[in-house]
Amino acid sequence: MNILAIESSCDETAAAICRNGREVLSDVVLSQADMHAVYGGVVPEIASRRHVEAVGGLAEQALAEAGLRREEIDAVAVTYAPGLIGALLVGVNFAKAASYGLGVPLIPVHHVRGHIAAGYIAFPELEPPFLSLAISGGNTLLVDVRDYTDMHIVGASRDDAAGECFDKVARVLGLGYPGGAAMDRLARGGDDSRYALPRAKVEDAELDMSFSGLKTAAINLIHNARQKGETLDEASFAASFTKAVSEVLVPRAVEAARMLGRRTVVAGGGVAANSRIREDLTRAAAENGFQLFLPPTALCGDNAAMIGCQGYYEYIAGKRAGMDLNAYATLDISRG
Ligand code: ATP
Ligand code: MG
Ligand code: FE
Repeated sequence: MNILAIESSCDETAAAICRNGREVLSDVVLSQADMHAVYGGVVPEIASRRHVEAVGGLAEQALAEAGLRREEIDAVAVTYAPGLIGALLVGVNFAKAASYGLGVPLIPVHHVRGHIAAGYIAFPELEPPFLSLAISGGNTLLVDVRDYTDMHIVGASRDDAAGECFDKVARVLGLGYPGGAAMDRLARGGDDSRYALPRAKVEDAELDMSFSGLKTAAINLIHNARQKGETLDEASFAASFTKAVSEVLVPRAVEAARMLGRRTVVAGGGVAANSRIREDLTRAAAENGFQLFLPPTALCGDNAAMIGCQGYYEYIAGKRAGMDLNAYATLDISRG
């Protein structure tokens, strides 16, 4: 079954063709990051306009690269939540038109379910159940993936997402937007014990997380150093900061897997590209005896292939949308 997938939830416009949930025939992503970088973050109105300009051409390109004719598309999958509402609506409306024009079903896909499905692309042997650590720009979730479309949140950030924390701190450091990948590079070779930063615990909810205190403490540390005219050892700061983020995420993933009795842990989302977090997860897997699946970094960030793959499983489970499909800025992954 060939699925045309469309993704436009934030600042990447993407189209892909996937076959049977596992095989990616084509995968094209157009990042708008450079357009938003001058503003230090995503400007929703600019994102929507750029999606409008890009989506049709990208879908054609995905079709051409897959070597398929339009008649060979069996369904259209689209990210309908969560994300920027205006950005999502562009993809949703394009997908509606494509499904109507081609006379094929329309499948709505939850964006974070897509991030989780990136694991199916990278690892053909991977099947639920497993614990997912879904860490991205807007979400920080521990998800019990009982089946392809049966998911339950067992832990979450109560405030900022891990990626948001990376981006805000990186911005104050002057690393540009989005700053997660630049922070990752800067941290290499730094001394991760040089700067003291807090790791918050959420009382009576040991799998929940909080990053806003860490974010504020890190930004204050940078400002204080600047005000006192002290030179910040930026590599060591980045390493100390990344260690703090990792020490919030990794032990909770270990604990969640233990509590649920899961022997398989799968990471996903943009922050799962972080080299320190990947190293710490790898060590934790070896120490605690669970199998770890880390998708290649290219599949961690936003793309449409992951939407097409999850879309297949949503289709198998009977999920369909009509021409009245709406987009939602927020939506619980268990209801996605
Ligand atoms: P969501 O998926 O929650 O809707 P999003 O789609 O904007 O949000 P992604 O595209 O999955 O998020 O991930 C982008 C985030 O990942 C950004 O915050 C970015 O800084 C972060 N990121 C990317 N690479 C790295 C890295 N190597 N280290 C840390 N963070 C990273
Ligand atoms: Mg993005
Ligand atoms: Fe994302």
